[in-house]
Amino acid sequence: MRTVLDPHLVDASGREPGLWVAVRDQRRALLFDLGELGALSPRTLLRSTHAFVTHPHMDHFAGFDHWLATALGRMPGMTVWGGPGFVDRVEHKLRAYTWNVVHRYTLPLVIEARSLEADGTRRGARFDSREAFARRDVPDEPARGDVLLEEPLLRVRARIVDHEMPVLACAIEETAQVRVAADRIAAMGLATGAWLQALKAAVLAGAPDDDTLDVRWRDAAGDHERRLRLGELRPLVLDTTPGRRIGYVTDLRFTEANLVQLDALLAGVDVLYIECVFADEDRELARRRNHLTARQAGSIGRRLGARQLQPFHFSPRYEGAEERLRQQALGAWQGAIEPDSPY
Ligand SMILES: [Zn+2]
Ligand SMILES: [Zn+2]
Repeated sequence: MRTVLDPHLVDASGREPGLWVAVRDQRRALLFDLGELGALSPRTLLRSTHAFVTHPHMDHFAGFDHWLATALGRMPGMTVWGGPGFVDRVEHKLRAYTWNVVHRYTLPLVIEARSLEADGTRRGARFDSREAFARRDVPDEPARGDVLLEEPLLRVRARIVDHEMPVLACAIEETAQVRVAADRIAAMGLATGAWLQALKAAVLAGAPDDDTLDVRWRDAAGDHERRLRLGELRPLVLDTTPGRRIGYVTDLRFTEANLVQLDALLAGVDVLYIECVFADEDRELARRRNHLTARQAGSIGRRLGARQLQPFHFSPRYEGAEERLRQQALGAWQGAIEPDSPY
């Protein structure tokens, strides 16, 4: 079955961090990290509705200005998520500029900043161009699971890992899909309508056959309504497939505590994008700089049972030798190189 999410590294060479995920059929995208965004087309930036900034190191957040400059007067809104204290970071970014003309744009821009705090609380503020981006706090929301964004087609989850500072590790998950046989709908004397979504949701939720569903639709003859049992409707469903899951993991230490967080977020992930900042032979340096080696990245992919591994974020010290890091990561993931153990 076709997938809804189409992920791409922002920098195909793998040196700069950043991922963008196109949401097929919605003409929109999600951004993961706002580093060097020069490789993205203005069209992609203008279609991006949400960004998730793993942490406010420059190579992950300096591109906020680029996105904002592209968006001003051309986009109605953007939502930016980050880790602890992130709402203040966005405010500081916005306060660095003078906004004396921005209220004249015919299309105002509203920036929603959100943070996942260390205790799970979600903090938020709204910045509106009509008010020169003055900060308007929204009430805190108490901790509730790890889902940051939930929509009918997808959700984004995040957990905090340690990089000598808190960092968001992210999971981008497609909703499971239910395929329905159009000819069987007609054969039952029904027609498509919003009730199909309710049927799919009930099937995915494992609802019992005795549950009933109000099947409503409208055609040339007018409005129709029938109440049917889920058991009667179930033959309409051809099959269900789990949605594809993508992991975006960058800037973290190779500790057991971090791996436990990743287990909870990404076990069995389909595609794992993971930092490979240092080569295996520079393990000590990686430890001091709070990063992974390529072999450690591959070991994490193996531990999680990732079905595909996409190494990225190679240190510039390996310029021209990135292939060696890729081979170390893939070797550890496939088991050809002995996996490294966390410290
Ligand atoms: Zn980084
Ligand atoms: Zn960093």
